Amino acid sequence: MSVVVNICRLLLAFVFILSGFVKAVDPLGTQYKLGDYLEALQLAGWLPEWILLVASVLLAAVEFCLGINLLFAINRRATPGCILLILSVVTPLTLWLALSNPISDCGCFGDAIVLTNWQTFWKNVALLAMAVVIMRYPSRMFRFVSESNQWIVSNYTALFILCMSAWCLYDLPIFDFRPYHIGANIKEGMEIPEGAELPEYTTVYTMEKNGTTQQFTVENYPDSTWTFKSVETKLVKEGYEPPIHDFVLTTLEGDDVTEELLADTGYVFLLVAPHLEQADDSRLDLINELNEYAQEHGYSFYGITSSGEKAIARWRDITGAEYPFLQADDIVLKTIIRSNPGLLLLKNGTVIRKWSHNSLPEIDDIVNSQPLDEIEMGQMPEDSVPTKIFRILLWFVLPFTLLTIADRTWMWSRWVRDKRRRQLNKILYNPLNNKKESMRKKIVAGNWKMNMNLQDGIALAKELNETLKADKPNCGVVICTPFIHLASIAQFLDQDIIGLGAENCADKEKGAFTGEVSAEMVKSTGAQYVILGHSERREYYKETPEILKEKVLLAQKNDLKVIFCIGESLAEREAGKQNEVVKAELEGSVFNLSEEDFRKIVIAYEPIWAIGTGKTATAEQAEEIHAYIRSIIAEKYGQAVADDTTILYGGSCKASNAPELFAKPDIDGGLIGGASLKAADFKGIIDAWKK
Ligand code: PEP
Repeated sequence: MSVVVNICRLLLAFVFILSGFVKAVDPLGTQYKLGDYLEALQLAGWLPEWILLVASVLLAAVEFCLGINLLFAINRRATPGCILLILSVVTPLTLWLALSNPISDCGCFGDAIVLTNWQTFWKNVALLAMAVVIMRYPSRMFRFVSESNQWIVSNYTALFILCMSAWCLYDLPIFDFRPYHIGANIKEGMEIPEGAELPEYTTVYTMEKNGTTQQFTVENYPDSTWTFKSVETKLVKEGYEPPIHDFVLTTLEGDDVTEELLADTGYVFLLVAPHLEQADDSRLDLINELNEYAQEHGYSFYGITSSGEKAIARWRDITGAEYPFLQADDIVLKTIIRSNPGLLLLKNGTVIRKWSHNSLPEIDDIVNSQPLDEIEMGQMPEDSVPTKIFRILLWFVLPFTLLTIADRTWMWSRWVRDKRRRQLNKILYNPLNNKKESMRKKIVAGNWKMNMNLQDGIALAKELNETLKADKPNCGVVICTPFIHLASIAQFLDQDIIGLGAENCADKEKGAFTGEVSAEMVKSTGAQYVILGHSERREYYKETPEILKEKVLLAQKNDLKVIFCIGESLAEREAGKQNEVVKAELEGSVFNLSEEDFRKIVIAYEPIWAIGTGKTATAEQAEEIHAYIRSIIAEKYGQAVADDTTILYGGSCKASNAPELFAKPDIDGGLIGGASLKAADFKGIIDAWKK
């Protein structure tokens, strides 16, 4: 299963990274696509353009970051969860697109890979299935970088992709997947190969008569008793469509000059401004100087816009532009260059250079006003794609590769050290007393809670003391009692056999805290242990991780051994969040300790839904989470510490189920509530270690 999960995870990560990246390098393209969607949903104009632009940048960043998070198995539950959520929304949407075809290309890979709507839908179904597989077995995803270093990956990724979008907005998309990229010959892009089948269209007229609406074509166009309502062009047969199929330039008088312009063998500057009304006019002096330079050397210089004559006249007024204007479709112009205005240099119909209005060539660059033939600006740049890919590798892939290598080397060296330590332990302990390789103690601890008065408590402790003296346990035994019992019981308890502990202590050292009992006071009774973090105290007395952190520190300061309880509620288990919860509880209160201090802690995993309810976690459920707890201790403190940490199970543990639970390799005993109130019941659980 792990292989399947990891293949799904890598494929899904690759798709999200690619899809996020191509959108991020062309934020304006993504914005236009979002606009198309709004139009298809008949919501065009509902949102201002800047909101669409922000949304396009965020959409790209979210996709890219999710892809990288999945690749590095960061937040192994939340990341696939978000991906699943996104795909659950997007898949039905793409089904709708495929069925009703309001947009011909969904734009999921920008202009880099164009899929039909049905291809997109089936792609999403496949991705959805992969996301479900990952969601089901998130912990099977192996990590490239350990959890403690993952923040570096996620923060750097977010920064990288946002900077990339910002740069591509300021300048031009660093990768240009459109048919007007540098090096493209526009004439060739318009050519239709010989024998290619052309798409067939028909014009459909919607007409109305006496309240009835009907559609007609040219062939059956009705008589004048019908009123015209609308007209649309419909594709009847798919066919070859050249990459450039709508590049038409007309003069303001309406004459088509496309052929003439593309046939020009000299240099032609095209100042492309899809909408002159919104065009940036901050570099107008430079544009005019470039025009003068072009005139001086006999090069053509045109402004091209989709705006009307009024806007052109206004632009001329504001900027003093003397170059002639041509008109073209705004979508074509937006496709040619992602800048308003942007400058294009053509030679022989081939795109030689492209500049955004923020990066126009400074006039000083045009060395001593030499002709373009003689200077670099007039030549096609060396293929810049490998350089750009190299830069991305240098800025993004290389740091992560180095981080992964450093992280894995560090983990490996830790593993080697731990292995050596374990081997040493084996040599030291095994031959002498046949102890298990790990040094961790097996413990059965009782938690009396708020039960029994002093006399009954003393009687129970005495009975247990006698019983265990007569029949020595095969594990450590501890009883944790209410405060008032401690001093009395400590008098007679044989603490070589039964340890004594409190159920709580204060989070303050001493002073005016009426009713509280400090760690020092607990210690002074003769007790050695204290239970902290029990779910009942977390819930009823609102003990937060910060309070517990203080309590742990004070308990350890007073030389008390802490039995630290963690565990999830039923709702959290049902939501599959148990790992997250226990991890947060450990991180919140005990993962701040030094290795030496952490070694003194006993962990008790107690699923809240099993405490006092009669419901026990199955031995497999308990083992799974115990193993997880041990793995996060290993990540934090190393394998040797994890191997030596005692992890108890608590929650309706009885003599009948203890043997099965204790037989699991990562369960080192139990914290027992109800069944610790009768000596015979408690002894039955202790004896599970003898089986
Ligand atoms: C407990 O409260 O620590 C506990 C495990 O209780 P019980 O055994 O009664 O479920």
